[in-house]
This record gives sequence, structure tokens and C-alpha cells, in this order.
Amino acid sequence: MKQYQEMAKEELLKEKESLEAAYKEYQKRDLHLNMARGKPSTEQLDLAMDLLNNVLDERDIIIMSNGLDARNYGGLEGIPEAKQLIASMVGAKPDQVLLHGNSSLNMMYDTVSRAMTHGICGGTPWMKQEGIKFLCPAPGYDRHFAITEHFGIEMITIPMSPEGPDMDMVEKYVNNDPTVKGIWCVPKFSNPQGYVYSDETVRRFANLKPAADDFRIFWDNAYCVHYLYDEVVEIPNIMDLCAKAGNPDIVFEFCSTSKVSFAGGGIAGMVSSRKNIDDALVSMAVQTISHDKINQLRHCVFFENGKKIPEHMKKHAEILRPKFEAVLKALDRDITPVGAGTWVKPLGGYFITFETMDGCAKRTIQLAKEAGVTMTGAGAPFPYHKDPKDSCIRIAPSYPHLDEIVLAADIFTVCVRLATVEKLLEA
Ligand code: PLP
Repeated sequence: MKQYQEMAKEELLKEKESLEAAYKEYQKRDLHLNMARGKPSTEQLDLAMDLLNNVLDERDIIIMSNGLDARNYGGLEGIPEAKQLIASMVGAKPDQVLLHGNSSLNMMYDTVSRAMTHGICGGTPWMKQEGIKFLCPAPGYDRHFAITEHFGIEMITIPMSPEGPDMDMVEKYVNNDPTVKGIWCVPKFSNPQGYVYSDETVRRFANLKPAADDFRIFWDNAYCVHYLYDEVVEIPNIMDLCAKAGNPDIVFEFCSTSKVSFAGGGIAGMVSSRKNIDDALVSMAVQTISHDKINQLRHCVFFENGKKIPEHMKKHAEILRPKFEAVLKALDRDITPVGAGTWVKPLGGYFITFETMDGCAKRTIQLAKEAGVTMTGAGAPFPYHKDPKDSCIRIAPSYPHLDEIVLAADIFTVCVRLATVEKLLEA
């Protein structure tokens, strides 16, 4: 078939007519499909049910290696075995881990909030400094941007490439502008593009020379063990590289088991230098006496302090892979022949990012909605919800059943094609 860009007006009009007919057939079916939710399916959650089944019935496992009774108050940093579990996920050392409650996002929010009100490691509170900024590699995770927007921190968009954020731009801002206080990063299987930062990108991050003493990299390693295939993808250990570069304190690395065990019912932690951890503990000690150590313990027993996580994640991959492949197959079949968009096949993570022709994302999402397929809102992966090219669509295939994904993907490709043809006819 001819690429849309090469079609004459009459050909486009004919294509529009046939796409509209197909679209109307879908509309008649009163469907309610959803490819917006980046959450695990019920089948994936079922994999961890033994977390709730008698894993804590023996009294002696309740006393931790440091003598702490997991049922009682205390142990604000988390139980040693659970620190080991989080450390194993990101290749850190247990003493670099500070555990929190059930959510890494909550920990990121608290970290920004603490910096705003109390400063970082004795520095001036961010809210008392004029015009502070965060760098936001985009497309990125909308909830990161929501945190910085919530605190009134100006967000600067940094373009992404398959190697990671544009490091020339990152270095220019961080090394010269003391009002730049942080950067949001999802280094492995980035949300939403599934990119993995290159070794060179990680090395350049570690070697930044921040103009501000209180600049920090928010290294959200949310998808560190979330592979779709047997191919294991490693990124360099940012903490080690930073220490070597004489920057031991510039990273807050976040990680959780939300998409390993139960979403919102897992354990979360931050990996950082002792100096940063001690600084965070000052406020945390006011906030709570201790987090849910019983849940930490349950995870340690079920996952053998982390040893069983790789094997467990293979079971997740078996459920997720066919769903991702169903979407990719539909895109290959319907979009490639007409050149109506591009995408990257991810090797892990939770999303596929589709790039429409410029100016077609909003219209595609609207068409999909009106045919019963909910997609993530246009612009969501950008600071202030502004996609400069109106071209980025985040597809989340994890939650619906496979047959729903197949149908939703068929409808999606019709919507993409229709929006593209409409746009070309406008020109
Ligand atoms: N970070 C990223 C990049 C995510 O995509 C998500 C959830 O989708 C989270 C953090 C949330 O993690 P948690 O459940 O630990 O708060």
C-alpha cells in the first residue's frame, strides 16, 4: 500500500471513506476498553498470593538479624533483610538503603517536600530560594511532573533519545545554573518510551558538576527488574560511578516492589549516601515511629530476601509479553504500510510509546474514546501536559485481558489512520 504522505487528495478521500466505515462498525459495538492504566493485571497479582498465606507462622522468623522484633515499634530505616531485598533489585549495598512505606512515589514526594521546607543537608529550604527549577526529560512519567508542578517548581523540558536525556542540555543547565535543583530520571525501561539509558549517559550523570550544592538526581529505578524477554539489560551503577567521580551525594535512587508483588501493597526504598539518608531520617523520625515492618518481613520470606525476584519476574513477563506483542503486531500490520507513525519495541517496563504524525495525537485519542477505547490523555507525558508536537501517545497493555488488547489495538490503528488522513486532507 502507498504511504499516506505520498497519496493524492482523491486517494486520501477514498481511504478516509473506508476508514470511517470501519470506525462506525466499532462504534456500534458499545465497547468499554482501556489501554490507559499502567497497572498489573489480576493474573499478575495472583502470582504473589502466597505472600498472604501463612508465611509468618513461625515465631522465630519475626526476630530480625539485628534483634529487632518486626511486630513492634522501631527500626525506622527498615528491617535489615528488607534492605537487602531492595539492594538486590538495584545492585546496591544494604547500608545504602532507606526503607519507607508502600510507595516509592510517596517517598519522592516526601523528598521534594522536605527539600522545600527544610532544605537538603543543611542547605536553604528550596521554598526560600527564588525561581527554582527541575529538569524534566520528556516524554516522562506524568506523576513526577505532577509533584514538581504541585510545589510550584518551574519545569524545563529536556528532549529524550534512545540513549536517554539530551546530556548536552542537562550539563549546560546543571553545571551553570544554581536555580536548577533536580532532574527526574527513569533510567531503565523509561516511562513511557521503554528506553534504557546508555552507559555514556549514566557516566555523564555521575560526572555532573552542579552549580547548586543542593542539586540532586531523582533516579527512579521503578522498572529495574521488569523485563519482557530473557534478555537481561544492565545499566551502570550510578551510586558507584558518583562516588568515583567525587559526587557521592548527588543521587536519590528510588525503587519499590509495587509491580513485583502487589501494586500499592509492596515495599519501597531509597538508595543514597549515608549523609542523605541521615538527613532524610531527621524528618522521617518526626513523621512516624516506624513503617510497616510486617509487610517488609512478608516480602523477605516470600522472595528470600530478593533471591527469588528474578524467577518471579519471569512469570510476570510470560503474562505481559503476549499483550505487548499483540499491540506491536497490530502496529506492524496496520501502520507500517501507510507510514502513519513510529514506535519503539520495548524490552521491559509497562508501556509502548506511539508517535503519530505531528498534530494527530489529540485527535487519535478522541476518536479512540468515542469508539470505546480509553487511552492516556494527550500531553500527559509532558510537563504542564503540553506535548509541543501533539504526537505522543502512551499505550499501556498490561491490565486488560489479551482478547481485549487485540480488539483495542485494532481500533487504535484505525483511529491513528483516520486522524492522519484527516490531517493530510486539511493541509
Ligand atoms: N515510578 C514510575 C516510573 C512509575 O511508572 C510508577 C508507577 O507506575 C511509580 C514510580 C509508582 O511506584 P510506587 O507504586 O512505588 O509508588
